[in-house]
Amino acid sequence: MNNDINEQLGRAAADPVALRKNVAGAHIVPLLMSYVHLTGDKSYLDKVRPYVHGGWDYQQDIPQELQAQIRSGLVEAIEGLAERGGVVHQDPPTAELKAMMNAACGAEVPDMYVPIFFEETCFGGRDYRAVSWRKEVPARRKQEFEVVIAGAGFSGLVMGVRLKQAGIPFTIIEKNANLGGTWYENSYPGIGVDTPCHFYSFSLMPNPDWPEFFSKGAEIQAYLERIADEFGLREHIRFNEEIVSAEYREDSCSWAVHCRKADGAEELLEARAFVSAVGALNRPAIPRFPGLESFEGPMFHTARWDHSVDLKGKKVVMIGTGATGIQVGPAIVDEVGSLTIVQRSKHWIIKHPMYHEQVPEAVTWATRNIPYYLDWFRFGLFWAASDGFYDTLKIDPAWSDPQHSLNAENASMREELIAYAKSEVGERTDLLGKTIPDYPPFGKRMLRDNNWYRMLCRPEVELINAGVERIEPDGVVVDGRKIEADVIVLATGFEAHRMLGPMEIRGRSGVTLRERWGDDNPRAHLGITVPDFPNFFVLYGPNTNLAHGGSAFFHSECQVRYVCEALREMLENDWDELEVRREPYEAYNAKVDEEHRHLVWSHPGVTSWYKNKAGRVILNSPWRLAVYRQYTADINLAEYHCRRIPLSEAG
Ligand code: NAP
Repeated sequence: MNNDINEQLGRAAADPVALRKNVAGAHIVPLLMSYVHLTGDKSYLDKVRPYVHGGWDYQQDIPQELQAQIRSGLVEAIEGLAERGGVVHQDPPTAELKAMMNAACGAEVPDMYVPIFFEETCFGGRDYRAVSWRKEVPARRKQEFEVVIAGAGFSGLVMGVRLKQAGIPFTIIEKNANLGGTWYENSYPGIGVDTPCHFYSFSLMPNPDWPEFFSKGAEIQAYLERIADEFGLREHIRFNEEIVSAEYREDSCSWAVHCRKADGAEELLEARAFVSAVGALNRPAIPRFPGLESFEGPMFHTARWDHSVDLKGKKVVMIGTGATGIQVGPAIVDEVGSLTIVQRSKHWIIKHPMYHEQVPEAVTWATRNIPYYLDWFRFGLFWAASDGFYDTLKIDPAWSDPQHSLNAENASMREELIAYAKSEVGERTDLLGKTIPDYPPFGKRMLRDNNWYRMLCRPEVELINAGVERIEPDGVVVDGRKIEADVIVLATGFEAHRMLGPMEIRGRSGVTLRERWGDDNPRAHLGITVPDFPNFFVLYGPNTNLAHGGSAFFHSECQVRYVCEALREMLENDWDELEVRREPYEAYNAKVDEEHRHLVWSHPGVTSWYKNKAGRVILNSPWRLAVYRQYTADINLAEYHCRRIPLSEAG
């Protein structure tokens, strides 16, 4: 939640030197928005509008003179207001807010982003995503309504926060010794987030202190641990325990959840609702290369990095060049003797000018002390990093070069990406043929350049475009050629298709989720609920992965709100069972498939972990973030069977 604005004002005005210095160094657009809120003076909005081209600071070229006026106006406003005893927060009328949003993003921001602004920033200190009670629910009923959550990654934590707020008892079962999910499990060198951190965070607990715009894994893990501490979640988490199976008991409308502890002891928990928050990227995919077992040196998956292995001077072979591989390679290249990278298919790589930048002290100071600064900084990043690229993903059926691009915008992006690659590889033009994909940009996950091209240019690095033939005791055979290896790093991704595996989840009449979904065809209503599985909810479920931009936190928060609304309906209406009807579930999934037919991830030239064996896109959301938010903002009870079991049945 944002700080109390008068406390911020007091702190900002307390040290005039620091105020001037930091206002001089902070980003101009959030400063301007702070100025508008504090003074009501909107005259600068039209003046800056032609110079703002996006939500990041590097996307503005506001003349220095104009910037200086805004900065000194803000200093004056802060000092004046602090002297007069502060200010009372008021939400601007929608039209004014829209004018501010348009000026801040340098675009006509559609109306559907207005509620997102309020929710993402907890504007004015209000928690818009909290689901509050509309009528009294007896305490005993709430106490009996135990919820079990699988997984203490960020989705599980957000779910826990919201249940705690609502006074609903819950237990989180976590297979690891600590919380954090993927951020706990992945500790490979170079791990970091490629989404801007000031937006990749829980709306209820923004973090003004991110050290980098794209921070490293340890920072994110520490942040998740702070969420757990701040909201008192640890006492609800059972570590080193795994959910083996869960079955729905129709007679009591409850879930029997079977857990296994690290020592093998088993325990049965009973829950009125069961929430899966295990995510999709938690089971490493280890390809069955012939001879895999015969390798005599250290070999490990990136999500199980063996930190006891010293890579110094070693011949390292890394297999895989996805979002993980691109972070690992440049992080180990200085240490290794040689690095051979085996790439089965090529990936598009985009530059972000601030990818390696530290957050300047002035920006951190401003996010802490200047009222509204962090709100607008966050919203600008939301805009810049979410739906902005969406139009480039759409297949134009009349497009003349459908193999390489999808539409005019996508084609121009392709040209830009190629130009960037050329500028990075310089004389090593041989690398262009090895790295530029044939398929359109965004077909696979767009990778952020982490000095990858520059690393490829180094003499001790070789990139081989081929599949792996086999592994031998001392190396890897690729394309008929033996590559000697002391260490093999498997950057080969995750078993994302077998969603929710290996838990066995048994719904009504004993049907299992695996029977419904097969090995690789998961489907759910809004990615969250499944017919025949009452009182069961999936977070980060089918077709909810964000592949064009955005923050997984945002989607999680949308889903958690939806689940909380469902639970609220059950408790307020005294229902024992809530189950999605088949028709809306089928209709939603048909809509998802239809939408995907027109988007890049269905492109026939692309293989990716987003698709199943049959070519259906099962992981990605086809929607703009703002559209998915609309779909999930209010549960539609007409889409659900809701049932109260008569006392006689309940026994
Ligand atoms: P990935 O994107 O699935 O990449 C796996 C790599 O291994 C690909 O290059 C793949 O080749 C290759 N590979 C897999 N099986 C192979 C085989 N049998 N033989 C040869 N090569 C094989 O996995 P990831 O890089 O771990 O990333 C997974 C997801 O995690 C990302 O898409 C992203 O959502 C998330 N992630 C996020 C960040 C972040 O900064 N936010 C960082 C890391 C990961 P093909 O391309 O040919 O399949």
